[in-house]
Amino acid sequence: MRGPCRFACPNALTKVLPMKLFQSPEDKIKAATISDLEQLLASASLPGHVRQLAENELAVLRQISQSSAEYSISFTYLTNLLDMPWGKKTEDNPDIAAAERILDAYHYGLHQIKERLLEHLSIRMLRMNRKPRILVVDDEEIARKNLRYILEKEGYTVEVASDGLEASAKMDHADFDVVLTDIRMGRMDGLTLLERTKIRSPETQVIIITGFASVDSAVVAIKKGAFHYISKPFKLDEVRTTVREALAGRRAPQHVQGSVLCFVGPPGTGKTSLGKSFAHALGRKFARISLGGMKDEAELLGHRRTYAGARPGRIIEEIRKLGVANPVMMLDEVDKIGKDFKGDPAAALLEVLDPEQNSAFMDNYLEIPFDLSQVMFILTANIVDNIMPPLLDRMEILEFGGYTEEEKYHIAVDFLIPKQIRLQGLSGCPPQFSRGAVYTIIQSYTREAGIRNLEREIATVCRRITKNIVRQQEACPPMEVDPEAVGRFLGPPRFLFELAKEQNLVGVTTGLVWTEMGGDIIFIETAKMKGERDLILTGSLGEVMRESAQAALSYIRSHAEELGIAEDFFGCHDLHIHIPAGAIPKDGPSSGMAIAMALVSLLTGRPARREVAMTGELTLTGRILAVGGVKEKLLAARRAGIKRVLLPQKNRADVEALPLDTGRDLDIRLVEHFADAIDLVLSSP
Ligand code: ADP
Repeated sequence: MRGPCRFACPNALTKVLPMKLFQSPEDKIKAATISDLEQLLASASLPGHVRQLAENELAVLRQISQSSAEYSISFTYLTNLLDMPWGKKTEDNPDIAAAERILDAYHYGLHQIKERLLEHLSIRMLRMNRKPRILVVDDEEIARKNLRYILEKEGYTVEVASDGLEASAKMDHADFDVVLTDIRMGRMDGLTLLERTKIRSPETQVIIITGFASVDSAVVAIKKGAFHYISKPFKLDEVRTTVREALAGRRAPQHVQGSVLCFVGPPGTGKTSLGKSFAHALGRKFARISLGGMKDEAELLGHRRTYAGARPGRIIEEIRKLGVANPVMMLDEVDKIGKDFKGDPAAALLEVLDPEQNSAFMDNYLEIPFDLSQVMFILTANIVDNIMPPLLDRMEILEFGGYTEEEKYHIAVDFLIPKQIRLQGLSGCPPQFSRGAVYTIIQSYTREAGIRNLEREIATVCRRITKNIVRQQEACPPMEVDPEAVGRFLGPPRFLFELAKEQNLVGVTTGLVWTEMGGDIIFIETAKMKGERDLILTGSLGEVMRESAQAALSYIRSHAEELGIAEDFFGCHDLHIHIPAGAIPKDGPSSGMAIAMALVSLLTGRPARREVAMTGELTLTGRILAVGGVKEKLLAARRAGIKRVLLPQKNRADVEALPLDTGRDLDIRLVEHFADAIDLVLSSP
């Protein structure tokens, strides 16, 4: 019989078919028949509504011709449906000390971020280890006693109340996972208690206990959000099972779920690998989906089944492949989604991430809700500003700043070099990298916030050593890698500390910018010529940067006298501001001070010191306002050999919060007003 399963590769189906008949999983799928599906359905552990759907689908399948397209679509759908890990979870690792060891074993530094991740784990663990708390509310003492007895024997902590009012008072002082309540009671009835509970603690499950006379009210209660109802006189087994189900189905309270974590930082700063280690520490499976290249909502949320070649969206597809409903799932590049995405990307992501919606996540292909509330999502982005605001509201941002040279050195020695020695086959005779060699690679062969290129260069050195060993046919020559050997393996240095050596020029200043690649330096060049009072701006400047150039000029014109500039100068000259370096995106207000300084240098003839870099927004009155990315900018300044950095006084708190060695070797000056900055940058004419 011909096989209809063209694109699904269902794990479950390949498992049920006998191996002796078919050689490969593909062969098995090709030869799969309805009776294989029946066998799969019989052996699968499925929630009732999924089983019902599968049985209906199977009934339809039996009616249609095997050669038809519908048969193929329906068969593939059914195998996908049965292959989903309905309710299958891995157990979380409850050992926080072990988790901490795992995070430290794979990543150097990143203390604050690891600390935050461990807090996140602790909250989960505390919740996992806590005995469930049940509140029994009934006006009959005998019912209270019986229920308390049964539930305490199940290992729960049980409290009792004789009516809704007393129960409400108890709920003011403690959280309960489940409330079992009678309907008719004295001062406050069960329905009112249910309404109040759903408002103040939506995650608490409410089970209604009802006498024969109040079954109608119980139905109303279900409509109002009660989990279930139990009729009096209750059966012990029914009470136990219903409470167990309520506990299993409850959502984590908002404060435990918290917001979704979002790792933000330049490339190569360890966001992905820390996410993986976190999953490892938690004992969960890990998947990663890149949102960056996504063009269509259907890639995330699935295609409708009727569409030829339809398949589930990436989220459901990854969960199916992993075979568990509670992985750590990293959604990469959330700041890159949007521009050419068909559909509303924010709405699509909220469907996935929002705890209010994702417990009944609807993939267009699957057409039946799948509970994503157990998935732990981590997002990544290079820069916060590009994240869509509705998403930003739900996120907790953890910032991965760039690494200092010292941090890079330690990461290289403790992690990258041992890893590359292993990967390049040098474990038998590992080369020794000298401190100078590692610093040479960092300073002369890479210029980046993260350590991607550093790892690549170390890999190149190791590969060349491997090749030499093989070529020389020497078993294990002693190998010391010093700066000179680095030069031999990697060629001439690619980056030099050229800035300090450059001549000071009139009309040219050094600015600091912050891009998604990390911090960087830019030069602001200005020129004057006879003309019609035009301001020419070039260098692919964004709108905000153009405006800040205008503001800088207005500040200078309105303060010409105190700056020592002839007032009639502006009447008969054009000014040109150019910012070279096409690869660096240039926008934002933070270059205001550097632009104004270049103009003042030009118009007063005082050369600007090349090794002084600055960043700060300038107002029309000359005040310097705070900027973002201080750490990144300082690291970029150090990489470029800058000696002095001018920062806004308003960034004092950011500077004080920096790791100690971020600003080492830099003379950092905090300035409040443009007038205070001039002599720190310009030398005498
Ligand atoms: P990102 O996701 O931020 O672009 P990656 O997680 O891909 O960065 O990291 C790039 C490489 O650098 C990986 O091999 C990673 O293990 C390594 N790395 C980054 N930060 C650290 C660190 N703090 N300690 C050890 N290795 C690190």
